Amino acid sequence: MNILVLNCGSSSVKFQLIETDIDTIEKNADKRLAGGVIERVIGQALITLHAEGQPKVKIAEPLHDHKSAIDYILRWIISPESKITNINSLADIHAVGHRVVHGGEKFTMSALITDEIIEQIEDSIELAPLHNPANLKGIMAARELLGPGVPQVAVFDTSFHSTMPETSYLYAIPYQLYRRHRIRRYGFHGTSHRYLAYRYRQLVGINREQVNIITLHLGNGCSACAIKNGESLDTSMGFTPLEGLVMGTRGGDMDPSIIEFIRNKEGMSVREIDTMFNKQSGLLGISGLTNDMRELLAEEQEKDDRRAKLAIDIFCNRAKKYIGAYIAEMSGAEAIIFTGGIGENSPIIRERICKGLDCMGLTIDKKLNSKITSGKEGEISTGDSRLKAFVIPTNEELLIARDTVRTVKNVPRRW
Ligand code: ADP
Repeated sequence: MNILVLNCGSSSVKFQLIETDIDTIEKNADKRLAGGVIERVIGQALITLHAEGQPKVKIAEPLHDHKSAIDYILRWIISPESKITNINSLADIHAVGHRVVHGGEKFTMSALITDEIIEQIEDSIELAPLHNPANLKGIMAARELLGPGVPQVAVFDTSFHSTMPETSYLYAIPYQLYRRHRIRRYGFHGTSHRYLAYRYRQLVGINREQVNIITLHLGNGCSACAIKNGESLDTSMGFTPLEGLVMGTRGGDMDPSIIEFIRNKEGMSVREIDTMFNKQSGLLGISGLTNDMRELLAEEQEKDDRRAKLAIDIFCNRAKKYIGAYIAEMSGAEAIIFTGGIGENSPIIRERICKGLDCMGLTIDKKLNSKITSGKEGEISTGDSRLKAFVIPTNEELLIARDTVRTVKNVPRRW
């Protein structure tokens, strides 16, 4: 089956076209046919398109909404110019898989989209007001453009974490708040953490139940996950993606009393403070320069910038703290896995996070570590390291495509 994978953000649409099927999944022989991203979907959009084996194409074109962006993608896919093999008309797109950020407590697995499912995703909007509306726009647009005959599947960022026990997901606030409003840890980046667990067991040749690892997704958004016996035991993002690690513009863990204090001192509204915690904090907030780790590393190295160094040190220290906490919570782990733009590309950040973890049995092999960048995969710990470390480039799109096939063909599985 040819699966169109859509990841609709508030101002962008990312896509991949993946050929896969039940037997293809078993053989691990899925084929990525094309991919790309449309940024600034409202206005002068920046379009990047890439068919496998062909050069990347970059175009600027005025678009007015998510629907026109998806229409543009579909027209490109079936056009002779894209040179995608075996795709000549919309009938060659057999199903669509959507990344949906929040599935609430309802969705513990991917779901075939029906009117009822759309209503349930709408019910989760109050939990993810920044993300779910864009995901829904993508679903509605794909439905209109491809027709009701093409099945669509929602794959939730939260589902993988549905195995967390109460001891991980409940906050220690009055229990009625959970009962009345479902205030709890949901966790995000689930498809990424799940992919890492899947790929790790393939790499080391073990069964799902034997996977005991700590995964660190370090991109613009960052989260850690404790995966015990193949399932999410705990994760650092919480009720919203704000909690946990230091991120590009989010501060992660902090004392909630700060909100009232800032409100009084700075005369800001709670909404303004929330925006500040989400958009002006983290690496950007501490450095006062940028949310981009690459730039911060350059500032630190070339100009010896104190606050750039501080931001990086706080970032690494927080990640280290979570590793320690999760090792304790899991009663020991076999490996730490790095992924995301920072985790995949920056040997120095990986080294700084792991520094001092020899007390937990981890020794980084500097040579191996320095060689793994730009999409490469492999081990970065020494042969005799008791706790291992790996870099595994994430591939959420692949799992979304696979879940789509399994859901459409009614072969439900978590992995
Ligand atoms: P998103 O979460 O938006 O998908 P990415 O996973 O692409 O983001 O990660 C973006 C982050 O990765 C940025 O902070 C960027 O600076 C960082 N990054 C990318 N390449 C490197 C590199 N070579 N060294 C350090 N950081 C890098």
